[in-house]
Amino acid sequence: MSQIVKVANLHVSYQGAEIPAVSDVSYSVESSECLAIVGESGSGKSTTALATMKLLDPNAQITASEVRVGDFDIMSAKNSELLKIRRDFIGTVFQDPSSNWNPSRKIGDQLLQPFPKSERSSLESLLIEYMEQVGIDRAKDRLALYPYNLSGGMLQRAMIAGALLGEPKLLIADEPTSALDVTVQADLLRLLSQLQKSKSLSMIIISHNLAVVSQVSTRVLVMFAGTVVESGNTSDVLQRPKHPYTRNLIASIPGMQKRRKIPLVTVKNNKIPLSGCRYASRCRYAQDLCSITKPELREFQGQQVACHRIEEIELEQVNHQ
Ligand code: ATP
Ligand code: MG
Repeated sequence: MSQIVKVANLHVSYQGAEIPAVSDVSYSVESSECLAIVGESGSGKSTTALATMKLLDPNAQITASEVRVGDFDIMSAKNSELLKIRRDFIGTVFQDPSSNWNPSRKIGDQLLQPFPKSERSSLESLLIEYMEQVGIDRAKDRLALYPYNLSGGMLQRAMIAGALLGEPKLLIADEPTSALDVTVQADLLRLLSQLQKSKSLSMIIISHNLAVVSQVSTRVLVMFAGTVVESGNTSDVLQRPKHPYTRNLIASIPGMQKRRKIPLVTVKNNKIPLSGCRYASRCRYAQDLCSITKPELREFQGQQVACHRIEEIELEQVNHQ
């Protein structure tokens, strides 16, 4: 398996923010693999994924020892090269259909816009084919419609068809279903998963929703306050979470574990200490060391966990069972 994405020691700070949005995050995505990034709102999921194509707000300062997508060195790429990589190598599906569409332009024009004018008419028939593949009937007629003529679910399907147009190797789906009704969400996830497998795409899927992640991804990164606290095979992490934050995240979801639902408290990033473990102030296992020294991600029982006390916590859990 070859690596499609490699990110090493990524740091991102937005001007004026008290703490960095992303601190020392490293990850990779293998060819044909679906990696999920989960964590509560503001934990840095979108920033982490969008940095792979430098698609961040202009007030973001980004440093990394490596950001590579395919053979492209993203950190040193010029703007014109970045545009080409985004168009030809990466497809994107974002959260909210209404804010990603220009209400006054026809759907077909918007989906073809990233491509040179000379290529658009020949790409139109491919777009129709992809729209049909993703479940949009009468696709040719729909190209001439405006976004308000289609439902949210249909607009997301159209966005997926558009994302496939450049024959991408990598699909980045940032909360692709969270603005939709539950039944539409399930259909769309099934579609994304089928496409990812049938076209051997690599995919990064971002979600608050661990149920979503469990359906489509093979590996997961769990983020808290700009850091990765745990990563591993999705089924292992969901069934046997190790980091106290991951345990809490999973326990907060009804039906994910047999335990009672515990509400997950979201902490404002400006209340999070910069030194030590970012989770320390919320962690019931925290000791002095935790607020002084940052825990590194390290191998623990087949998963990568950033916690000084993981051995003792695991022992306590085992003794309680
Ligand atoms: P959500 O689940 O709400 O989408 P997220 O995990 O994707 O959250 P990010 O959007 O990456 O998180 O944000 C990480 C941190 O960076 C947050 O504290 C957020 O407020 C801050 N941030 C994000 N975008 C900007 C921006 N354009 N300018 C300033 N701060 C930003
Ligand atoms: Mg986000």
